[in-house]
Amino acid sequence: MATPVQVIHNVREMQSLVLAWRRAGLRSGLVPTMGALHAGHISLIHAAREKCDRVAATIFVNPTQFGPKEDFSKYPRTLDADLAMLSEAGCDAVFVPDREAMYPSGFSTSVEPPSVSQPLEGVCRPGHFRGVVTVVLKLFGIAPTDASFFGHKDYQQARVIQAMASDLNVPMEVHICPTVREPDGLAMSSRNRYLSPEERQRALSLWRALERCRLQLACGEHRTAELAAAMEKELISGVDAIEYAVVVDPVTLQPIELVEQQAIALIAAKIGTTRLIDNLLLSTDPRVTTTDATAKPTSGNPSQH
Ligand code: AMP
Repeated sequence: MATPVQVIHNVREMQSLVLAWRRAGLRSGLVPTMGALHAGHISLIHAAREKCDRVAATIFVNPTQFGPKEDFSKYPRTLDADLAMLSEAGCDAVFVPDREAMYPSGFSTSVEPPSVSQPLEGVCRPGHFRGVVTVVLKLFGIAPTDASFFGHKDYQQARVIQAMASDLNVPMEVHICPTVREPDGLAMSSRNRYLSPEERQRALSLWRALERCRLQLACGEHRTAELAAAMEKELISGVDAIEYAVVVDPVTLQPIELVEQQAIALIAAKIGTTRLIDNLLLSTDPRVTTTDATAKPTSGNPSQH
């Protein structure tokens, strides 16, 4: 049986543990999450285990990154199952603070997010990235590991965190790990559990749109407007609203006219009341590997292709 993950609720206790690892010469990694864990999260634990001697996760549904009309109160909370999955994956410790531990009375600082936060999610979810960078910088202070691991699934978020860590000289590596998908292509997400079986089927149109985009590029279509139009055509048949479907610069997320070497296709769409996002790195060089992984049982490493 797997060793149970050490559950820590207290900020000082978490800091002491990570600093003790450091003093012992052990390299450590951090995987921040909001819980409701699935194989995508667990792939980050595996990635951290590959690069580090000790791995810590965090579970905190951060209220400050949700808008007033978003799903904070109904966000799935499945702590017992999460702890079992973390133990099984070989995670050493998990920090599970309550709201008071993170935002005690008198808390008043927030971090201005970098410019890569402004387009796309920055437009659709005002204030979201301010909440994200502030809580992530706090978690980096609470668990000052050598490296941290984020999913490509939330690509803009990962780029925002990389830019924040670089701009503010945070002494921690920030790794972006492949998106884990269901066998039919749907990107794993805690929010997939909101979908009815009929909506779950329609949600596949996000993956189909991204695949279509990749195919069009492979067939020689380099104009981003045409690639975006092809994605929209695919999405219209499945989703109830398209928030964006674009092909942009993979570093700045700013518009480009042509895909010259690499670009990223990003989609946000609503199926019923559920908002889903997905993305795919595009390359004109067929030798560049994708950033996707197919789901495997949580005890195994996802295969990367
Ligand atoms: P969340 O709990 O949604 O805040 O996600 C925590 C971390 O898991 C973030 O870095 C996400 O990008 C990552 N993540 C979520 N879904 C996936 C997935 N399907 N594949 C890989 N990483 C993921």
